[in-house]
Amino acid sequence: MDRESFVQQLNGQTIFDIIIIGGGATGLGVALDAASRGYKTALFEQSDFAKGTSSKSTKLVHGGVRYLGQGDVSMVFEALRERGRLRDNAPHLVSDLEFIIPNYSFFNTLLYSVGLKFYDLLAGRKSFGKSKLLSKDETVRLLPNVKENGLVSGVLYHDGQFDDSRFAVNLAQSATEHGAVMLNYFKVIKFNKENGKIVGVAIEDKETGMTYSVRSKVVINAAGVWVDDVSALDNVNLASIVKPSQGVHLVVDKTFLDSQKAMMIPKTSDGRVLFTIPWKDKVIIGTTDTPIESASLEPEALDSEVDFIIENYNNYSLKKLTKKDVLSVFAGLRPLAAPIDDGGKTKEISRRHKIFKSISGLITVVGGKWTTYRSMAEEIVTESVKDSLIPSASSITKNLRLHGYLKDENSIDPLKFYGSDLQIIEGLERFNEKLTTKLHSKYPYKYSHVVWACRAEYCRGVDDFLSRRIRMTVLDAKVAYKMAPIVAEIIASELNKNDRWVDEQIQEYTEIVKKYIMNEEEFKETKQSIN
Ligand SMILES: Cc1cc2nc3c(=O)[nH]c(=O)nc-3n(C[C@H](O)[C@H](O)[C@H](O)COP(=O)(O)OP(=O)(O)OC[C@H]3O[C@@H](n4cnc5c(N)ncnc54)[C@H](O)[C@@H]3O)c2cc1C
Repeated sequence: MDRESFVQQLNGQTIFDIIIIGGGATGLGVALDAASRGYKTALFEQSDFAKGTSSKSTKLVHGGVRYLGQGDVSMVFEALRERGRLRDNAPHLVSDLEFIIPNYSFFNTLLYSVGLKFYDLLAGRKSFGKSKLLSKDETVRLLPNVKENGLVSGVLYHDGQFDDSRFAVNLAQSATEHGAVMLNYFKVIKFNKENGKIVGVAIEDKETGMTYSVRSKVVINAAGVWVDDVSALDNVNLASIVKPSQGVHLVVDKTFLDSQKAMMIPKTSDGRVLFTIPWKDKVIIGTTDTPIESASLEPEALDSEVDFIIENYNNYSLKKLTKKDVLSVFAGLRPLAAPIDDGGKTKEISRRHKIFKSISGLITVVGGKWTTYRSMAEEIVTESVKDSLIPSASSITKNLRLHGYLKDENSIDPLKFYGSDLQIIEGLERFNEKLTTKLHSKYPYKYSHVVWACRAEYCRGVDDFLSRRIRMTVLDAKVAYKMAPIVAEIIASELNKNDRWVDEQIQEYTEIVKKYIMNEEEFKETKQSIN
């Protein structure tokens, strides 16, 4: 990864085959698909890779049990097939997770046993394991916190779990290794046109303020909930195609689940599913589905969403959760493809993606899921080059191992997500013992991980590191905040920044992390302790 050499390619001489706007799951997937077909590819992300929706998911690589209930069998089939491919290609990031649905009626016992057998069948050879019916006693043994009153049985099934923003970083690295120019903190601000057709983009380097004009045969808008804003740079009269829907998660101590298995509540008070999932020695509970008018890179959980999660969790758990127990709260915006007429609701909007082509040639993609990013990317690249000057080439991503690929199913190392890079990081530590210093006594992250993030993982600041290279902001926001000053110092020394930059970074991160800490008092206390 060499940012300077990437920037040198923005000289106006290079003509790219494909430029991608947006470095979330969709854009990164497209970049890897395009670059690995041999196309000259560049991706520009206005903030950090996965800073938008793609770091705020439920962390599931799943077929989507609830979409079966909606009768969307073909979508579930595709997602289950992709789930298997994701695990095959990135076993260091994707793992099998057992879920239990507690049943409080005989009807539900029958419904979920049969439904999940069908789910197993759809997964076919890519199955993660067979579902099975559990007695009441087995259910209570495996989920010690589950409400026993009225419990009839449980159904256990398998799905996938991953680390979303780490996956994004590995996608960017893989695309780079196939020759793509991958630049975060570069915003697309204008389309350049000739005879009414898009021939490139103008971009602004958000760090230096410099602007560049870059030529390309194809331009793809993968800007998530911001696709309308980007499309408006092409034509202000285009109709809106995205409908953002907010989903909130709470992160709490692992004792709130007290199990290595996840619990899936199939019907909350508003008819959705609620997951309680073990993740990185903590538990994630979510999510909600709230229509939102305007998009933000750091959306905030509404009080009503937090109350909804706590209330529904408490309805099914013996251990009662209060706001005081929340280690971190995060919100993300689903970029749902707007239906023609939805009567103002997003709950029923399909999670399928849609691809549009404007008169000037801009390809825009909206909707989809992390799980299906690869198949979506394959389709988008194939569609994009169809009527262009670019020669056709086949996608090779079905069996393409991602950067960091390492198969070690039995590993319980909390740093497993680094995959094969872990050895290189340990190598750095052997040269400089100081790098073995921990950032906080409670967590395994060290100075070496900050250095590595700057040198090999496109990290440009404190939020990039704490929120998306290691997941501290999401896992334990207060501790993350305490790590911020030393992280800023190490990054400054790696990227040649001065003391003013360090102060600005801490200030910026303070504004971000504030939204993840629920209790204002706790935030103030932590702020005082680091000043
Ligand atoms: C609460 C929630 C839970 C979810 N859970 C799951 C799950 O468990 N499993 C699953 O498979 N899916 C899940 N999803 C869906 C999945 O996260 C999204 O489908 C996916 O992350 C969307 O990726 P994206 O690339 O389209 O959007 P984003 O990740 O938002 O990426 C778009 C990027 O475009 C950039 N951008 C915008 N304008 C410009 C510009 N002018 N120039 C340059 N860059 C620009 C933005 O900064 C942003 O980073 C969940 C979604 C939500 C909200």
